[in-house]
Amino acid sequence: MQRKLLKGVRKMPDQDPGRRPEAYLYSNAVPDAQRKKRFEDFLKERYHKDYTLVWVEDKSIDSGFKLYVDNEVYDWSKEGRINQFKEMIRRRAKEEDGPGGKELITLFKSSLESWNLEALPEEEGRVIMVGDGIVIADGLESVVYGEIVLFESGIRGMVQDLRPDSVGIILFGNEESIMEGSLVRRTKKTAGVPVGEGFLGRVVNALGDPIDDQGGIMPSDYLPVEAMAPEIIDRQAVETPMNTGILCIDSMFPIGRGQRELIIGDRQTGKTAIAIDTILNQKNNDVICIYVAIGQKASSVAQLVASLRKKGAMDYTIVVNASASESAPMQYIAPYAATAMGEYFMHKGKDVLIVYDDLSKHAIAYRALSLLLERSPGREAYPGDVFYLHSRLLERSARLSDETGGGSITALPIVETQAGDVSAYIPTNIISITDGQIFLETDLFFSGQRPAVNVGLSVSRVGGAAQTKAMKKATGSIRLDLAQFREMEVFTQFSNDLDEVTKNRLAYGQSLMYMLRQSQGHPYALHEQVILLVAGTAHVMQDIPLEKNGDFCLKMLEYFHRTNAEFCEKIDESGDLEEEDKTVIIETARRFRDIYKASSNSAKLSPI
Ligand code: ATP
Ligand code: MG
Repeated sequence: MQRKLLKGVRKMPDQDPGRRPEAYLYSNAVPDAQRKKRFEDFLKERYHKDYTLVWVEDKSIDSGFKLYVDNEVYDWSKEGRINQFKEMIRRRAKEEDGPGGKELITLFKSSLESWNLEALPEEEGRVIMVGDGIVIADGLESVVYGEIVLFESGIRGMVQDLRPDSVGIILFGNEESIMEGSLVRRTKKTAGVPVGEGFLGRVVNALGDPIDDQGGIMPSDYLPVEAMAPEIIDRQAVETPMNTGILCIDSMFPIGRGQRELIIGDRQTGKTAIAIDTILNQKNNDVICIYVAIGQKASSVAQLVASLRKKGAMDYTIVVNASASESAPMQYIAPYAATAMGEYFMHKGKDVLIVYDDLSKHAIAYRALSLLLERSPGREAYPGDVFYLHSRLLERSARLSDETGGGSITALPIVETQAGDVSAYIPTNIISITDGQIFLETDLFFSGQRPAVNVGLSVSRVGGAAQTKAMKKATGSIRLDLAQFREMEVFTQFSNDLDEVTKNRLAYGQSLMYMLRQSQGHPYALHEQVILLVAGTAHVMQDIPLEKNGDFCLKMLEYFHRTNAEFCEKIDESGDLEEEDKTVIIETARRFRDIYKASSNSAKLSPI
C-alpha cells in the first residue's frame, strides 16, 4: 500500500517494490533519534518486519502523533484520543442499554480506568464493480455524501450514492487502473480545486490540472467545488454594466455585473460567438473571465483558445475544459470547479464573468451518471434533481455588498435547443433560473441577421438598472419601433400596394435591423453604440440602400473618429449624453450621409 495516498496534497517519494516497507509518522515536530528508534522497535515487535520510518510534518496535530502502518493507523493525536474514548463510551453505553445519570458517570469512570489506545484499521472499502466512470464499492461504512475517496492507484473519486450496503462513486480519472477488489479509502474531505492568479491565461481540466503544456501552476488557495451561494444579506442590487460590445444586446438587453443571462438557441446560431465577443470586450475593464467548455469537441476549444490568445484576451481569462472525450463525472464537476475559481476572485472584490458552454451538455453528462448510478429516470430520462443541478450552480453568481468586498460573478450560461423548442425540460428550467435570455434563431442567422438575436423573445430582467445613462438616452424607443416593424412586416408581406406611411415604417425598421448586424470579434465601444443608435433612430440610415448599410455604419464611425474625436472620448468617459450631444450626432451623421451618397453617385470621389 502506498502511504502517500493518504494525504493527497502531501506527495511523498514513490516506493520501489524492492525497498523496505515504510511506516509514516505524522507529527508537528521532528522526532529525535531515540524516539525514532522506539517507534521502529515497536513496529518490529508488532509486525515482525523492518520498517523505515518516514516523518511527515503535520501542523494540524498539536500534540501527539499519528502512525500509519500498512492498513492501520495509530492515532495518538489529541483529537484521535478523544474520539477513541468517545467511541468506547458510546459502545459501552449501547451494550448496557442506554444508562442515564449516575450509571453513566460510573460507566465513564470505569471506562477511563480500563482505557487503552488501540490501533484502528482505517476505513477502507473494496471495489465491487467498475465501469463508465462509476465505481460501486462496499465497506466505507461511515463515508458521507460528496466525500472524496482515494483508490490505490492514486485516482480520486467522489461519493454520489449511499446505499444500505454499498456506495456509488464517480471517478475523476482513468478507470483502467481500478479493478474488482481494489482498495478504496476515505479522505474525510469534500471535493476542492486549487485556485489563484496563477490560473489566468491557462487551460485547465475540471480538477484544476493544467492541460496546456505550460508547466505546473502554483495555487494561491484551495476552495470547495460545491460552495454555498452568498446569502441575501451579503448581496446588493445589480447596477454596474457588463458591456458585451454587441449593439443589440447592450442597447436592448443590457447585462449587469452579477446578473445571469442565458444565451439560448439551436446549434450553430452564434451562441459561443456572443460569449467570446463579451470576453474580448472585457479587455480594459478589469474583469476576470472564465470560459467553461463542457462536452465540446477538443478541436473547437483549441481553436477558441488560440483566437483568445491572439487577441490578447487570455491575459485575464481561464479556460476550464471538460471536452466530449472526458468522462461524465469530469463534465459534471467542471462548472462547479470553475465557479470556485471565480469565487476566489469575487471574494477579493474583483468582477468575474463566467461562460458555461453549454449547460445542456452538462445536464446530459449528469443524466448519464445518474442512470449509471441506477437513479430512477424522470422527464426526458433526467433524474429528479436536475433543476437543483443548475439552480445551485447559478445561484452562486452574485453581486456582493460593499461590506463583503463588492466583487461579483456574472454568469452567461449557454443552452442548446432542438428545433427552437424552448419549452423542453432543460431550457425551461434554466430560463426560470436566470435573469433573462438572449434568444438566437436559425432563420435569422441564415437570412444574414447576425448576431441572430430574436428581439421579441429576448429579455433582460435586471440589467436595465445597470445600463449607462448614455445608452439609456440613446436607445430611446428602438425596442418599440422594432416590435411595430415585426408586426407590420407580417401583415404586409403579401401585399405590394402599400401606402407611403407604411412603406416608410418598413424601411425604417429594416434600416434598424441592418444596423444591428455586427460581425464577429468586433465589439463596439460605448460612444460607437451611442452614435449608431442616435443616428439610427433619427432615420439617418433609412434611405441608404440596405446592402450598403453595414459599410455606411462603419464609415460613419470612422468619420466621427476623425472629425469629432474629443466628442467620442467625452461620451466614453462621462457615460452620459446631453440633449445637445444628440443634436451634434444627428447633424454630423446627416452631413456624412450626404457625403456618402454623393460619393456613391460618382464613383470617382472617395466617400470620405
Ligand atoms: P454550436 O452549436 O456548434 O456550439 P454556436 O451556436 O456556438 O454553435 P458559433 O460556433 O458561435 O455557434 O457560430 C457558428 C458559426 O457562425 C461560426 O462559424 C461563427 O464564425 C459564425 N458566426 C457567429 N456569429 C457571427 C457573426 N456575428 N457574424 C458572422 N459570423 C458569425
Ligand atoms: Mg458553441
